[in-house]
Amino acid sequence: MSESPYYSLSLDTEIKFLKGVGPARGNAFREIGIETVKDLIYHFPRRYLDRTTIKKINELRVGDTAVIVGKVETFGLKQTKKRKYFQMVMSDDTGMMTCSWFNSVSWIIDKFKPGESIAVYGKVEFYNGLQIIHPEFDLLDDGEDPINTGQIIALYPSTAKLKSVGLYSRSIRKLILTIFRKLEEPITDFYSSKVQQEEGLIQLEEALKQIHFPESIQHLKSARYRLKFDEHFFLQLLMALKRQKALTAKGRIFSEQGPFVKDIYNSLSFTLTDAQIRVLQEIRQDFSSDKPMNRLIQGDVGSGKTVVALLASAVIIGNNAQVAIMAPTEILAEQHYNSFKQYCDKVNIRCELLIGKLKKAEKESIYSDLANGEIQIIVGTHALIQDPVLFDDLGFIIIDEQHRFGVGQRKQLIDKGNNPEILAMTATPIPRTLSLTLHGDMDISLIDELPENRIPITTKVVEPKRLEKVYDFMRQEMNNGRQCFIVYPLIEESEKIDLKAAETGFNTSSKKIFPEFNIGYIHGKMDKDERDKQMIQLSNGKIDCLVATTVIEVGIDIPNATVMLIENAERFGLTQLHQLRGRIGRGLHKSYCVLVQNKKTPESEHRLMVMERTLNGFDISDEDLKLRGPGEFFGTKQHGYIKSKLADFVNDGPIIRRSRQQAQHIVQTDPLLKHQEQQYIRREFLVNYQHMLEYINIG
Ligand code: ADP
Ligand code: MG
Repeated sequence: MSESPYYSLSLDTEIKFLKGVGPARGNAFREIGIETVKDLIYHFPRRYLDRTTIKKINELRVGDTAVIVGKVETFGLKQTKKRKYFQMVMSDDTGMMTCSWFNSVSWIIDKFKPGESIAVYGKVEFYNGLQIIHPEFDLLDDGEDPINTGQIIALYPSTAKLKSVGLYSRSIRKLILTIFRKLEEPITDFYSSKVQQEEGLIQLEEALKQIHFPESIQHLKSARYRLKFDEHFFLQLLMALKRQKALTAKGRIFSEQGPFVKDIYNSLSFTLTDAQIRVLQEIRQDFSSDKPMNRLIQGDVGSGKTVVALLASAVIIGNNAQVAIMAPTEILAEQHYNSFKQYCDKVNIRCELLIGKLKKAEKESIYSDLANGEIQIIVGTHALIQDPVLFDDLGFIIIDEQHRFGVGQRKQLIDKGNNPEILAMTATPIPRTLSLTLHGDMDISLIDELPENRIPITTKVVEPKRLEKVYDFMRQEMNNGRQCFIVYPLIEESEKIDLKAAETGFNTSSKKIFPEFNIGYIHGKMDKDERDKQMIQLSNGKIDCLVATTVIEVGIDIPNATVMLIENAERFGLTQLHQLRGRIGRGLHKSYCVLVQNKKTPESEHRLMVMERTLNGFDISDEDLKLRGPGEFFGTKQHGYIKSKLADFVNDGPIIRRSRQQAQHIVQTDPLLKHQEQQYIRREFLVNYQHMLEYINIG
């Protein structure tokens, strides 16, 4: 590579101007978000080939997922009775094996040359000899064969589009190599040498080179550590800056306890747990300081968050300001409304519900009573952030399951207030490591204790053939005056079929299985009046067993219910099962959760066993994180800000804590990132989080 086709290749140079790229490849790259030289340098390998991970053909076992390096022997189209397929035979010094491609094969026909070095990756099967169907593969250049050279070779994630323009790992490696050779600007490190030393980080430029062309496994490890640290660091910096902004906002002081707290407290039929009292004190402290509250209550289902939120609201009402409670769904909003209303009525606090499906006139009367201050507590959905909603003096905002709202929606509600205090609540237990990132900008209050009268629930996974026994048990419970739930999955994609299954379930339950009992049925598509009627009958014991879709996941509070039977339990996620199970075990009687496993896969088996093994929401969420990755926890709305490539929120706990400390230290000493020393951090941060400027102070 002696000629110099690019004049001044910089990090911002568009990839399409690179020799060997051009418009078609440029487009393919753009589709996966790679437009500049910098983007390509940050396009990290998905895997590496190195001597220690490669299997010889004579060592392969059927069922292994393996990497094999060898030479292309022969290839060509073949024909079975039914269809055409493409076959390639490869060899290494221990034997031969076959790779096959079915269906659309045109793209692969001209990919191979006899004698060429190749690495393939896939699951080994046995069909007329050892064979991998649809392997991933990479062509290697001479001198790249890791067995002979001892090199570690990077393999890149691929897409059909990339392949269609010939962008395999080999060509991507070449491009990146060229970039490193021709790049005219240095890749500046953003950390001070002090931070680098404290954290044992290698230089950024070195890390980026080593991640693509590692000299050794040790070098690769250092590179990955450094780049992971960067990802966590900038996220933590974002959190620290958001927190900083929240703290500089002017806050109000609500120091009076007011008359309502005692009245509500006295009307409770139980005493608060120590955890509830502690959290209330934390909230009271925030209220009485002039810094605005930005706090999250994390508490497992049934831990009693609602009552805490209610008593906190009572303080605000006592100070003549208003309270808004926003929940992500109408059902949740209605449930909060019902629990609040029950207490508010007793002490003459005016509490209303605002949701989309109210009639125009009803909405308008709420708008006007909110604006003139007559409504003291408003519970609602996104309907609360609509334009016509104006408050007289909104002093306190409670957001339930905040991760289901976008940051923008949260801000819209806050902007309707008068420097309001903010309390988020979540019953979705979040793994501790992830919580450091997701809630890094908030103070956290944990309700880590259930009311002591709770008797632990017993959970059992059963196969459908055992159902008769379960029904017998349910009859016995109902004859003793208890109530039951039968839950059916309902997901959007298969809504029609799911509803049908639930309905059939209701019909067989009421006519065949439990004809002697009163069976109710609710689902989310039912209108509110009908659903309310059923819920009231359930509450006052007129319904013995409620057949339901997942609408009962949250909020429903029937202490007399002792059995929950969940059909097709394998279709639910862990967090969802945990929420559902939280609907029982709330009263004085021992409760049972039966998970019917209709289809068995190793993964679903594992998931359901977790439910059998533990009642602890944190354990369950840790498992969930391992099984499903962090996307579920971030919520679709917030996912936008996690641009992680290497970050692993399950195993990076130590890195997260260290990077958090550094980020917080920087923001404490230099809140606006103005110091010279921070200029590169600031620049890099702004590149990544331009869209968050509204929520931080450094813009
Ligand atoms: P969460 O919202 O955290 O899931 P709730 O606030 O709905 O829990 O409380 C669950 C149930 O426990 C409700 O019936 C509530 O009245 C009751 N409860 C709350 N706190 C206590 C307590 N300290 N002792 C006994 N029961 C309680
Ligand atoms: Mg509740």
